[in-house]
Amino acid sequence: MTNLDAGGGRPGLERKPLILIAEDEASLMTLLRYNIEKEGYRAVEAFDGEEALLVAAEDTPDLVVLDWMLPKVSGIEVCRRLRGRAETKNVPIIMLTARGEEADRVRGLDTGADDYITKPFSMTELLARMRAVLRRIRPALAEDIVSFGDVAIDRTTHRVRRGNREIHLGPTEYKLLDHFIQHPGRVFSREQLLDAVWGSGVYVDARTVDVHIGRLRKALIEGGEQDPIRTVRSAGYALDESLKT
Ligand code: CA
Repeated sequence: MTNLDAGGGRPGLERKPLILIAEDEASLMTLLRYNIEKEGYRAVEAFDGEEALLVAAEDTPDLVVLDWMLPKVSGIEVCRRLRGRAETKNVPIIMLTARGEEADRVRGLDTGADDYITKPFSMTELLARMRAVLRRIRPALAEDIVSFGDVAIDRTTHRVRRGNREIHLGPTEYKLLDHFIQHPGRVFSREQLLDAVWGSGVYVDARTVDVHIGRLRKALIEGGEQDPIRTVRSAGYALDESLKT
């Protein structure tokens, strides 16, 4: 097992997510490790299922890329055992499966894998899936600077930009935007936004949400840009996916 720190990586990351790669094909491992580190993550390798379990026990990874066909202990069994341990119960797992193993995929997802990708796959797609899974399960870990179209927020400094323009937001508007960016395209009702941004159990009138959405919108389109927030009649609000680039 090798714990490799890429150095460099994406600037501004406080703590690079640790990715456990379990793959017995040396050439694919090299390619995976190279791309994962280039993305700004740390990578730790395991060449069989037994090693994967040992490595995961030693230092809990933030995400596991797990080959289905592994020597000693199969990928599916590794997945099952990781799910059985308290420390790794919630660690996202992306399984790598061979083409056409439709039944296996279903079993993989049943066993607790969060996603699967069929070999051969493009690194771009795997990295996109990794980001999606990390963002969904552990938003804070996914990235420090998150963006949607030309809107970018820096979670370390809480600075928001649209293109080259700096946007000044109040804390509530900032939280709303961050919440939307974590779930692009998803429609949130006013109640869901209240829970997510103000916290559950806090009594705030649902119309308060409209007020803050209005402020957020105003700030985002002040430079004459397109409105990125979609109002969904009688349902709520969403980030307009058509603006995603
Ligand atoms: Ca394999």
